Amino acid sequence: MGLFTKDIETFEDLYQHQLQDIYYAEQQITKALPKMIAKATDPQLRAGFETHLRETENQIARLDRVFALEGHTPKGATCPAIDGIIKEANEVAGEVSDKSVLDAALTAAAQAVEHYEIARYGTLIAWAKQLGHHESAALYAETLEEEKATDAKLTLMAESKLNAEAELA
Ligand code: FE
Ligand code: FE
Ligand code: FE
Repeated sequence: MGLFTKDIETFEDLYQHQLQDIYYAEQQITKALPKMIAKATDPQLRAGFETHLRETENQIARLDRVFALEGHTPKGATCPAIDGIIKEANEVAGEVSDKSVLDAALTAAAQAVEHYEIARYGTLIAWAKQLGHHESAALYAETLEEEKATDAKLTLMAESKLNAEAELA
């Protein structure tokens, strides 16, 4: 289903599409994170990616709960945005040879992923509330806090250490 095809008529349809979009995105992220873990050198960065991989698996379980609450079968819709963010991350990572510079690149790429998720979950919360899906909104809010915390941890790591190490490379 393409974005804004005739499959989306109502606001509820639009909301469901957004839910399917983030479901797909979270699944792509669980596939991308192991590759980022393998490429990262800084132990704290690797540990951060490992923690967020486990969180992401739980976020998918939360989305399964949302589908169940709303009476739908879990289903993903291809998200060209997350595919693009991950593709760009892989391309940039493939072009960096120094380990410290690569860590800085991986951090920036991960932050792009988190910002995409923060945007999507913010919208999902607002739309779910408007449509009366209050339990779903509460579940999205739990995930949104994890995405924001991950982004903040990445900023702290970059600014306190990783960027300076990359500069020295
Ligand atoms: Fe996520
Ligand atoms: Fe999308
Ligand atoms: Fe995330």
